[in-house]
Amino acid sequence: MSGYLRSNLKEECFGCEACTQVCGKSAIIMKEDEEGFRYPVIDENLCVHCGLCNVVCPYENMPESFGENKYVFGGYSLNEEIRFESTSGGIFSEVVNAYCDDNYIIFGAEAKGLSVFHNYITDKKELAKFRKSKYSQSIMGNSYKQARIFLNEGKKVLFSGTPCQIAGLKAYLRNTNQDYLLTVEVVCEGVPSPIYMRKYEEYLEKKYGCGIESLDYRYTDKTVLSHGKWDFEVMRTHLKNNKMIKKDRWFNPFWFIWLNHLMSRPSCYQCRFASQERIADISLGDLWGVHLYCPELYGNNSGASLAVANTEKGRNILLKAQRSMYGHELDFKEALRYQAPMRTHISQNQHREAFMRDLKSSMRYEEINKKWTKSPALKLLWNKYIWGNRQKIAVWNLKKFLRRRD
Ligand SMILES: Cc1cc2nc3c(=O)[nH]c(=O)nc-3n(C[C@H](O)[C@H](O)[C@H](O)COP(=O)(O)OP(=O)(O)OC[C@H]3O[C@@H](n4cnc5c(N)ncnc54)[C@H](O)[C@@H]3O)c2cc1C
Repeated sequence: MSGYLRSNLKEECFGCEACTQVCGKSAIIMKEDEEGFRYPVIDENLCVHCGLCNVVCPYENMPESFGENKYVFGGYSLNEEIRFESTSGGIFSEVVNAYCDDNYIIFGAEAKGLSVFHNYITDKKELAKFRKSKYSQSIMGNSYKQARIFLNEGKKVLFSGTPCQIAGLKAYLRNTNQDYLLTVEVVCEGVPSPIYMRKYEEYLEKKYGCGIESLDYRYTDKTVLSHGKWDFEVMRTHLKNNKMIKKDRWFNPFWFIWLNHLMSRPSCYQCRFASQERIADISLGDLWGVHLYCPELYGNNSGASLAVANTEKGRNILLKAQRSMYGHELDFKEALRYQAPMRTHISQNQHREAFMRDLKSSMRYEEINKKWTKSPALKLLWNKYIWGNRQKIAVWNLKKFLRRRD
């Protein structure tokens, strides 16, 4: 294994930042490339060639992973507020509640405007800042270093992030006692170039005279058929002048471009963590396929989560967390069928280079969208409005009712 610091190959750097945090000489900084992704750069004047950066690089030294004896749970938090504030069924908050009773620290991704960064909290009351998926790679800062200090002080640490960030943390903590560490990863399909959203902000600034205060990629309105998570999700942009802009998920160019794998980080197209073998204690995702293999967990359209415990520690916490949730154990093989990022990585779109050329150029947001997106297919609109999850669940409920009467 070589790794980016030796090979200079972009696909060999996950951007986890373990190398910058381990360097005792502060000789490594993260710098954005022209696509907007951050890579380590070594200052040769400061480097003493100790090699620690290579030791903690998860590309070179992959931490232990777990493929067997999973415990899989599907369901949603019984607390409506938590569910409404969360991306899927609020499982992250319930795992936090189960693990963090006393003397704990929670690490997660927070957003300010368009920038996303890792931070920690010492009080669960502040958990809202970590809730909601921010679809941009978060800046790790000193988070691994801080986690190590807290663990050495005997505190309970819950560290959440993407699988590559958890791998970076585990590689960084290789000599640290991890008895009080719980790692929680989000199932991840990759991270998009931040340049696209910067162009979006430029567009808004021109149109409304101000930038973005906050962005909710997966906002759901309480008034739409309960929370309307499966069919009625929107991206909600909160502008600095307090104006709110809502864009239906299926008509939103961001999702079209990103989910067509035109602007993901190069390493995501070869992600080593997109498999059944996981490094974190617990993996969290959306309960995709809910209407197909466990319709009873659809609830009232307000979201449901999938949680996979990969270790004994993860299993114990998940069993405790599920006491505050509606749901049940699921068959791993069945869940895997609808969880592509737990089977394999995404494939690079053959037009990625051409798209990236446009994104890097002076082309504006509207021009990029016009060139690179299509209107939603009829099939999709049919699914959303005519024969979507809601309707399928309604028919399933009706059949269940009729069977009971027989
Ligand atoms: C970049 C990204 C890609 C994802 N891709 C998929 C996918 O393909 N399939 C799937 O089933 N689920 C995916 N998820 C996970 C999913 O969106 C939910 O996070 C998950 O279902 C947990 O739901 P919840 O209701 O508990 O959410 P929440 O309470 O909203 O979850 C919050 C958690 O997400 C973490 N988080 C948020 N943004 C980031 C970020 N930028 N970097 C690191 N951690 C972050 C927080 O630290 C916290 O741990 C992805 C999440 C992210 C952040």
